[in-house]
Formats: sequence, C-alpha cells, structure tokens
Amino acid sequence: MTEGPPTEDRLARYRAKRDFSITAEPSGTDPPPEAGRRFVVQRHRARRLHYDLRLEVDGVLASWAVPKGPTLDADVRRLAVQVEDHPLDYFDFEGVIAAGEYGGGDVIVWDWGTWSADDDDLQAAIDAGDVHVDLVGEKLAGRFVLVRRGRGDKDWLLLHKHDDDAVEGWDPEDHPRSVKSGLTNDEVVAEG
Ligand code: MN
Repeated sequence: MTEGPPTEDRLARYRAKRDFSITAEPSGTDPPPEAGRRFVVQRHRARRLHYDLRLEVDGVLASWAVPKGPTLDADVRRLAVQVEDHPLDYFDFEGVIAAGEYGGGDVIVWDWGTWSADDDDLQAAIDAGDVHVDLVGEKLAGRFVLVRRGRGDKDWLLLHKHDDDAVEGWDPEDHPRSVKSGLTNDEVVAEG
C-alpha cells in the first residue's frame, strides 16, 4: 500500500467544512470496524443535484461528485469532480443536511457494493489519475474508469467500459430509490 497521510489528516478538510453540532452527518470519529473494498453512490440534492461516488481506500472514502450521475451506458462520459475524502462512517449516511450548512440538502444511499481491481493499490491509481475498478452493486456493475483530465486538476471523467454489464441508454434517474431504505429523496425529506 502507498504511504499516505494518516486518516486523521486526510479528514481535516472534511471536518473543517462542517459544524457537527448542527449537521446530522458523521464526524468520522467512529468508523465501522471492518475495513474492505466497499463503494457507495449517494444521490445528493444540494444547491444542484449530483451523485457522490465514493471508493473505500486506506481507511477513508475517496470521493467524486458526478453532476449527471454514473451510467451503465458505455458510450457516455460523465464529468466527475474530485472532492475531499470522507470518513468511513459516511458509507451509509442518508438524511437531511440542514440548509445553510455545507452541502445542505438531502441524501440517499443510491447504490452500494464492493469494488475490485487488477492492481491492488487503488490509492496509487488515484494519485496517478487513472482508476479502473469493477463494481458489484445493486444498480451498478462492471468495469468503470475514472481518468483525471489534467495534472493537479479536480476534474475527472467517469465512464463505463463496453463489457457484459454495459446497458445502452441507462439513466440513473430511472432508478431513484435508496438501496438502504427503499425511499426516494422526497420521502427521506418527508420523514424528516
Ligand atoms: Mn455531495
């Protein structure tokens, strides 16, 4: 594994943006004990709708905001903006982030599952800006590629390879329910 900064340092940016006395989001102080190769995609209606793709690596969730969401359509390339690492206990976060707080809006666990890769060192692949992972989720499956568009750039491209799991015309908005609760974003807000 790559020698990266310790988890505490990697989460400093995440914590600095949030007031944990107000937001219901986890502070990252109590991560679940089992480490693994999980991924999660959260559908987050903030100022603008986006999907947050997170890959578990080296004790954190490496994260990208995908405005139009991931798709199984192998002919589509999606912008994916790399954002700060999130704590592991964000993995199953679903709920309402208060208005005025960072990321204020509502979040559902849109998909979750596990990732695998030919190269074990996912952090090195992220550092190199060239990530190839096979996802096994409830909605997403098959080989996804994340490629950084320029050196030091936050903008990446997300695409699905032409493999057996590719589906032409597949739209994430046609699959709006949480895999955790079965609820839509609207229903999570209504449950308050
Ligand atoms: Mn988000």
